[in-house]
Amino acid sequence: MKILSVNAGSSSLKFTLIELPSREVLASGLFEKIGMNNSQYTIKYNGEKIVKECELKDHSIAVSKLIDELLDNKIVNSLEEIEGVGHRILHGGQEFTKSILLDEDILKRIEKYNELGPLHNPANIMGVRAFMKVLPKVKNVGVFDTTFHQTMKEENYLYPVPYEWYTKYGIRKYGFHGTSHRFIYKTISEYLKRDNLKVISCHIGNGGSLCAIDSGNVIDTSMGFTPLAGIMMGTRSGDIDPSIIPFVMNKTGLTAEEVVNELNKKSGLLGVTGISSDSRDIEQAANEGDEKAILAQKMYAQKIANYIAMYNNLLNGADVITLTAGVGENSKTMREMIIDRIQSLGVKLDKTKNDFRGEFRLISTDDSKIPVYVVPTNEELMIAIDTMELIS
Ligand code: ADP
Repeated sequence: MKILSVNAGSSSLKFTLIELPSREVLASGLFEKIGMNNSQYTIKYNGEKIVKECELKDHSIAVSKLIDELLDNKIVNSLEEIEGVGHRILHGGQEFTKSILLDEDILKRIEKYNELGPLHNPANIMGVRAFMKVLPKVKNVGVFDTTFHQTMKEENYLYPVPYEWYTKYGIRKYGFHGTSHRFIYKTISEYLKRDNLKVISCHIGNGGSLCAIDSGNVIDTSMGFTPLAGIMMGTRSGDIDPSIIPFVMNKTGLTAEEVVNELNKKSGLLGVTGISSDSRDIEQAANEGDEKAILAQKMYAQKIANYIAMYNNLLNGADVITLTAGVGENSKTMREMIIDRIQSLGVKLDKTKNDFRGEFRLISTDDSKIPVYVVPTNEELMIAIDTMELIS
């Protein structure tokens, strides 16, 4: 069965065509600058790479081009071969607790949560409508970043603020990266052949979040009402004292939105170092002795270590710690710095085992109290698997 896994942004459309159950990636690519003058797309398949510039007025045109390329290059022989399209959707509020088959009514219900994810939800929905228009016979499935976290208990998802903020405005912790954390739990529990695992899942890429999972249920996660909360990230601050916001507004004359924008886009590794949000650049600068880069690395590792310790307590002792995403999968330096800071949990790194990047591996010593695994994430595959299950 061939499934398209799609992530639509406001001016982009990322796709992966996956064969299931073999999990073979048949093609993947990105349509960029949709609706702008210099639109272009890249498609990779079978060792080939197509790069073209062309006018892509809207997402439907991009989807039509994608279909033409899949047919022209015989990646599929007919449209009927594509049995389903799975869409990443950022926010499903409290209403959506599972992935779901999409139709116009459901899309309208999802639109209610656009104000909770204003940058992503409208674009995600636009992507779904483009596929509905170009491939009207194919079923579409919505896979939300938030649903996995819906098992959190009230005591963990509520903020200690006036209760009516929750009842009137929906202010609570929602959590994000749920598709990744769910994939990680599925992978590690299948590998260890246990479905009652207590896992601390650390998704650390440009964005980052931790998730405490017990037997497949989320107990707590570090992102909150928005993805700004939790650990320090590439450009996001993570948790800060909220009083900083009006204080900075007074000092600078910036509006609340502008300060929050600085916290989202100009903070984190970038904000502290002034160099870059990319951990590779920070690592290089640190190796060359840049003091702010060294400081930022320490801060970054410490915030993650603090959350791991907190979640170990919350889980009453974790069975496994997993590291994933760009930094977790690839940066042996950051992995070492994090594990150095959780020695009180009896976690011990095997430096020889840690000397690699980008694959599934145990990196802790045999006598480490909690084993630590690097588990590459695959949100596209998780979306495709959900789609297959819902359309079958
Ligand atoms: P996102 O999906 O949130 O945009 P990714 O999961 O792709 O982000 O992670 C991007 C981060 O991963 C960047 O900070 C990048 O520097 C880091 N990264 C990727 N490869 C390496 C590497 N070889 N060493 C260190 N960091 C890496």
